[in-house]
Amino acid sequence: MHHDAMGGGFLLEPIGVRAVMAPEFFSSEQRALFQAARRFCLEAVLPRADRIERQDFELLRDLMRQAGELGLLGVDVDEAYGGSGLDKTTSLLVAEAKSLLGSWSVTFAAQTCIGTLPIAWFGTQAQKQQYLPGLVSGQKVAAYALTEAGSGSDARGAKTRAVKSADGTHWVLTGSKQYITNAGFADVFIVFAKVEGEHFSAFIVDRDTKGLTVGPEEHKMGIRGSSTCPLMLDDARVPVENLLGEVGRGHKIAFNILNLGRLKLGAGVLGAMKLHLAGACAYTADRKQFETPLLRFGLTREKLARMLTGLYAVESMAYRTSGLIDAQVAAGTPLLAAIEEFSPEASILKVLGSELFGALVDDGVQLHGGAGYIEEYPIERAYRDARINRIFEGTNEINRLLIAGTLLKRAMKGPLELFEDFGPKPSAEDAHVENLKRLARLTLRVAVEAHGPQLEKHQVVLACVADLVMDAFALDAMTSRNRQVAKTRALEPWRVAAVQRYSNEAHGRAIVSARRAMSACVQGAALEARFAEVQALQVWLAGDAEAVDEVLAAAVEAAQGFPLG
Ligand SMILES: Cc1cc2nc3c(=O)[nH]c(=O)nc-3n(C[C@H](O)[C@H](O)[C@H](O)COP(=O)(O)OP(=O)(O)OC[C@H]3O[C@@H](n4cnc5c(N)ncnc54)[C@H](O)[C@@H]3O)c2cc1C
Repeated sequence: MHHDAMGGGFLLEPIGVRAVMAPEFFSSEQRALFQAARRFCLEAVLPRADRIERQDFELLRDLMRQAGELGLLGVDVDEAYGGSGLDKTTSLLVAEAKSLLGSWSVTFAAQTCIGTLPIAWFGTQAQKQQYLPGLVSGQKVAAYALTEAGSGSDARGAKTRAVKSADGTHWVLTGSKQYITNAGFADVFIVFAKVEGEHFSAFIVDRDTKGLTVGPEEHKMGIRGSSTCPLMLDDARVPVENLLGEVGRGHKIAFNILNLGRLKLGAGVLGAMKLHLAGACAYTADRKQFETPLLRFGLTREKLARMLTGLYAVESMAYRTSGLIDAQVAAGTPLLAAIEEFSPEASILKVLGSELFGALVDDGVQLHGGAGYIEEYPIERAYRDARINRIFEGTNEINRLLIAGTLLKRAMKGPLELFEDFGPKPSAEDAHVENLKRLARLTLRVAVEAHGPQLEKHQVVLACVADLVMDAFALDAMTSRNRQVAKTRALEPWRVAAVQRYSNEAHGRAIVSARRAMSACVQGAALEARFAEVQALQVWLAGDAEAVDEVLAAAVEAAQGFPLG
């Protein structure tokens, strides 16, 4: 198997040796569905933001039906059940397009991903026939109930129990769930419970099931228009045929859904990032202080440059990953295996997507000054709404541990040869990417040599490795994309500036991450020797930092937002 076909393979494969997927290479069908989804969000959702924020669930249900009519709810569902069964690139494009308003974005994601896909992927034919057409058309709304008061990150620590009834016709569920998106108005719940208190399993539970009660709405920091409630299951009798998959295999369902969920979350911040970059540009062009538009100040332009760079990084990572999955599926790999293969990339997207989105709306608030703190301005809501992305779909801590842990496991067992020698020194033009990959691999190797099987207890070291790996992936994705676009036409200068900016910041972070990790692994002269190796891998892409930011800011100004539309 060639490296690029492996999750984490980017750490081994020299940059640019094979094609990557990127928006420049979308098909006309992919573009058309994206445009339809975006138009719907711009014309039907955003103008009703105030009503949505007041929890008008009838409106949300109506919007869901409209989205169903446009074919937006069934992209991941087979045609046999009313969906369109399209590729994951299209699926991410719809996730991007729907993300302009946080409350809608979360409602939509709970419906189409975590609510629908357990049935689409693990349901029997009868379950699929019964539930999927309604979910895909938006006539029915779904929710996913995994989290409990005592088990969040540790999802398998759930206490909810399922016991077969004496006559064998039902599963009887007892327990409670919390923070369940869409619960206030959902018709169907995917509920995780342990059979006989032991075997983690999933069930399809209809809202009108006797013994199921939905508790009151939580009062949230953001995404206030979405529904988030607890569920109480008090001897709730679920027909035996509503067991989803097999008894004791519920974790398979949960983990597979999370893999795609993380990818979609990462891509699902892009629409909002583009919207709020444009918003910041418009506000700063309009507002004057010292008789000068804010847009003309160097520190405004620095922020716009940072916002654009983060956006370009997330976009490059998102579609590169969906392209890798699509290519594997096209080559015959089963879909879930292909998604699982790229689970490290999905976690990277989840973490960097949520954090770069968080940084972008933070810059957005700051550029608005006091207005950024006032509800009348959309950036105030966006700032609150963005915060949840670092918490759900696995917290960013859990995902950082997963990134380092999964790569380590694959390196120990093969086939990901992360501990092989580095080979010849990269060319000067590749060093900014290749050295960062080497630094990530070197740090992981030092950590394994020092701690062996105990490494999993050294979470700070693992998180430092994850940070290095994430920046390496972002930089690889952006640089590869640039090189590929440059083969077909002249590359816009801002794209080069984005790589330059990201690289210099990443190398600054990298030296700290690598040193922190290594200092927890070796001491004395050995540590000094390692620090020298770290230093030798440092790259600073030459150029006047102010001029680089100016190239990026000028591109934002000219396009009044994201330069690629
Ligand atoms: C608005 C909203 C909507 C949600 N929607 C849904 C939904 O639809 N369905 C559903 O099932 N759940 C949902 N959740 C729940 C969400 O997935 C959990 O809140 C999340 O997984 C974190 O679990 P927790 O809240 O129990 O935090 P905890 O697990 O208690 O974590 C608290 C802190 O400890 C850290 N931590 C935990 N374990 C470790 C560890 N091993 N190592 C290092 N640090 C650790 C975490 O990273 C975090 O920083 C939703 C939550 C919210 C707020």
